[in-house]
Amino acid sequence: MTRKRKTARPQTSTGHNLLIDAGFSTRAVHAGEDRLRYADSITTPIVQTSTYAFKNSKDVEDYTKHKKARFEYGRYGNPTEQVAARRLAALTGAEDCVVFSSGMSAIITTILAFVRSNDHIVITDDAYKKTLEFCSRYLLRFGVDCTIVPFGDYEAIDKAIRPNTRFIFSESPTNPYLNIFDLNVLKKIAKKHNVLTMIDATFSTPINQRPLEWGVDLELHSCTKYLAGHNDILAGAVMGRKELVDQIRALHKAIGGVIDPHCCYLLLRGLKTFPLRMKVHNETAMAVAEFLEKHPLIQRVYYPGLKSHPHYKIAKQQMTGFGGVVSFDIKGTLNNAKRFLDNLKLCYIAPSLGGVETLITHPATVSYYDISRKERYALGITDTLIRLAVGIENKDDIIADLDQALRKSIRRK
Ligand SMILES: *Cc1c(COP(=O)(O)O)cnc(C)c1O
Repeated sequence: MTRKRKTARPQTSTGHNLLIDAGFSTRAVHAGEDRLRYADSITTPIVQTSTYAFKNSKDVEDYTKHKKARFEYGRYGNPTEQVAARRLAALTGAEDCVVFSSGMSAIITTILAFVRSNDHIVITDDAYKKTLEFCSRYLLRFGVDCTIVPFGDYEAIDKAIRPNTRFIFSESPTNPYLNIFDLNVLKKIAKKHNVLTMIDATFSTPINQRPLEWGVDLELHSCTKYLAGHNDILAGAVMGRKELVDQIRALHKAIGGVIDPHCCYLLLRGLKTFPLRMKVHNETAMAVAEFLEKHPLIQRVYYPGLKSHPHYKIAKQQMTGFGGVVSFDIKGTLNNAKRFLDNLKLCYIAPSLGGVETLITHPATVSYYDISRKERYALGITDTLIRLAVGIENKDDIIADLDQALRKSIRRK
């Protein structure tokens, strides 16, 4: 193991404020920042450097002997990242947080921090495609076995756990059907078997769902989505108890998926308006879901805020909003779905979600283009399934765009 040093977590002389008792929006704007900043700047400066100079050899010694906390080298953290980590911890109610260069970097580093050869892990089947691929394919190379259980089958999770199982990993809500994991049940299963729990909560955000308060050990986010919110950067984060996060941080310093200071500044900027944006995402998606559910050219809508969603009850219990993603099956065929995308004038055809621009994808031809139709249907991805990620445009404009494209693309029977 590396020597323990007080890298990149210095308590500065000016003192920073986590604003634990302040409201969510106040924390989103201020938490984690030093009260006094370089050049009296009101914003957190971007310290664009790869390394940090020591005053003299005594300064080096003070640092290595833990007498002084400071920055040393860029891969071990930077001041912008430190503020973002503290702010995200303040927003999720976590003891500690690490920020990464992408959501996948956060997920993979976290997973690797807790497994060794001959261990076993459990993951639910509608987790993010790359997470599933890593767990089922790459981990196997290192002798880590993975059981993929059907989402929502709690008995299967319970049965899958072995003496060498290290953790249960799931998302909630999931993509694209927005299934909700009952976190109370997860907690019970994990406690019974003494295994860690990890939830990728990207789709819910710290406003709509609070996994750590429901007893989850580690909460993960692709900050690329709602938290940064402007479809302009990649970032990721993991939060939880300090004792667990420290283990992840140690590996992060070696793997090196560190976030660049400039990119991190954009994350901090995005976070300031996150509560405002999230309110709009929640309201607009609800309105769009209700509109689509009544639309004659729509077969079915999946949105956890609708009573028709299979997990509506759990969603109501453990979430305060249902997010900006609405999935739906249109009437017609694969060609109708393609025509529908082509007729949109406002919504962009693009992967991702949680940004200010409304984005739309056709999972059959984007995320699942590389498998046969039969395999795709087995995964529940139909020809006519559409995933819409509403932005913060006026909801009437989004609805009008969807409506005109539907009418142009599908003939009424
Ligand atoms: C986007 C996403 C990821 C991956 O995050 P990146 O920032 O793209 O690396 C992981 N999980 C979920 C649920 C996501 O939506």
